[in-house]
Amino acid sequence: MGDDAAGRLIVLSGPSGAGKSTVVRRLLQKCDLPLKLSVSATTRSPREGELDGQHYFFLSDEEFQNRRDAGEFLECKEVFGLGYWYGTLREQVTTGLQAGNWVILEIDVQGALSLMDDNSLSPITLFIHPGGSEELERRLRMRGTETEDVISARLETAEKEMQHMHRYQFEVINGSVDLAVDEICQILKDQKEKRPCSKS
Ligand code: 5GP
Repeated sequence: MGDDAAGRLIVLSGPSGAGKSTVVRRLLQKCDLPLKLSVSATTRSPREGELDGQHYFFLSDEEFQNRRDAGEFLECKEVFGLGYWYGTLREQVTTGLQAGNWVILEIDVQGALSLMDDNSLSPITLFIHPGGSEELERRLRMRGTETEDVISARLETAEKEMQHMHRYQFEVINGSVDLAVDEICQILKDQKEKRPCSKS
């Protein structure tokens, strides 16, 4: 199997309200690399329109902890301190990589940092954000779905997350979705050229 067929791991994080999901969705459609989104497990309930096995694997607390104890997660964290757990399933990553896919993990900063510390993975890491806290606040308010308390908590989390931005290899400002998608796709293609052990 040549190098071109080898999969890569991509870690993408950014504050809530940065438009990550929209960017990832569009990236999967537009970027001509064999991208595959890893489906995480979570203990939160499905939102309207979310499907089990497609958006997340929705697990009970007990099932999540059993699978955690069985070592099924590459990383898992309690996100936002609300008591909900989220985790990357090893199986999602290994089958994707073995099939030669570029597996995208859309995960929070704590989860991303733990994977960066694992030398065996060498992920490509990207941090996506809207350019400033005023813009983030504007976007969170524009959604109109969150209460003042939730907006404040998310802005506070965002501030903390931004402090770790320098740990990521690439910073992408999501001003326009199309431009952000093009930029990320180009970054990934450049990494393909820079693979440390690629054939010349
Ligand atoms: P939401 O509940 O809005 O879908 O996601 C909340 C947060 O959980 C987002 O920041 C998202 O990136 C993060 N998240 C989703 N899946 C995982 C995962 O498998 N691991 C970690 N550490 N965070 C995750």
